[in-house]
Amino acid sequence: MSNFWSPLAASLVPYVPGEQPKDKSYIKLNTNENPYPPSPKVLEAIAEAANSDLRLYPDPTCGALVQEAARYYGLSPKQTFVGNGSDEILAFAFAAFFDPAKPVLFADITYSFYKVYAKMYGLQPKLIPLNEEFDIPLEQFEGEHGGIIIPNPNAPTAKLLPLGDIVTLLERNLDQVVIIDEAYIDFGGESAVKLIDRYPNLLVVQTLSKSRSLAGLRVGFAFGSEELIQGLDRIKNSFNSYTMDRLALPGAVAALQDEDYFKETTEKVIRTRDRVMDQLLGMGFIATDSKANFVFISHPAIAAEQLFIQLREKGVLVRYFASPRIDNYLRVSIGTDEEMDTFIGALKEVIAEQT
Ligand SMILES: *Cc1c(COP(=O)(O)O)cnc(C)c1O
Repeated sequence: MSNFWSPLAASLVPYVPGEQPKDKSYIKLNTNENPYPPSPKVLEAIAEAANSDLRLYPDPTCGALVQEAARYYGLSPKQTFVGNGSDEILAFAFAAFFDPAKPVLFADITYSFYKVYAKMYGLQPKLIPLNEEFDIPLEQFEGEHGGIIIPNPNAPTAKLLPLGDIVTLLERNLDQVVIIDEAYIDFGGESAVKLIDRYPNLLVVQTLSKSRSLAGLRVGFAFGSEELIQGLDRIKNSFNSYTMDRLALPGAVAALQDEDYFKETTEKVIRTRDRVMDQLLGMGFIATDSKANFVFISHPAIAAEQLFIQLREKGVLVRYFASPRIDNYLRVSIGTDEEMDTFIGALKEVIAEQT
């Protein structure tokens, strides 16, 4: 607490990102980073852009990248927004579309940043409890409210809603903005982007952080009707006109252009996930059906916090949330096959020591 803080700063409950330790080298399975490097074409484009033009401001409209992202999905540039990571876009979207006079609806178990944004903008979250299987009770996302946000697949549960369910949700809430946060959609889901022409209330948010191995570049996208994109632009240009720098812009364009590399690496992650899932189930773990680049698991006999601590001692970092309903689960990012073999080995040791 400081006397210098505004009432707003004093009232915030900031998000706590997964740790990025420097003390020793861990197998990092705690922040859903991609284990494979970005496309070599991305690195070439960034190297080429690292020149004396850095003295100049970047393009405030991010024109080249907006065009490339629109092309990628067969949309118009007017239906496309880009930002400094999808977290930034989500923050803009909360400010642009959610009405503080009415509750904003999201699941009780979901991306924990949503609560932080709600607080930041004086919104009233109404948490919709997931059922026992961590499924989203769609019928509860209706009534008087000021907007909806759902990650698909959900985090940290990894569960996917089929596109038909998204349509149902949109049909029932035509007067409010529905944000679908598709940070993990490329690992086995179907994007709601194709619904944008039909639903002017739909905003789809994506990121290059996970499936394109570019968490360090900070690039996100939003796709929606022209009026929604204009709403985001209004917030962005009241905040920071130059959200994307001169290295990120060409790097992101190159990432979207290298479809072969993208397919190859996401397929590898999916194959590893499915193999690891079989192993975990064989070891007696309870797991959700993951369509993301992480698994969400619980051991019937050993507390998740214990597993988390012991794995850490063995040099494997996973994510543990000391939150109601999920405090006996671990979220484990999918690494390379070799990393996952080490993880499974360490896990077997911990279980043997504990039982
Ligand atoms: C990782 C993640 C993001 C943030 O992605 P950035 O583009 O790196 O900011 C957004 N939403 C969910 C659900 C995520 O897991």
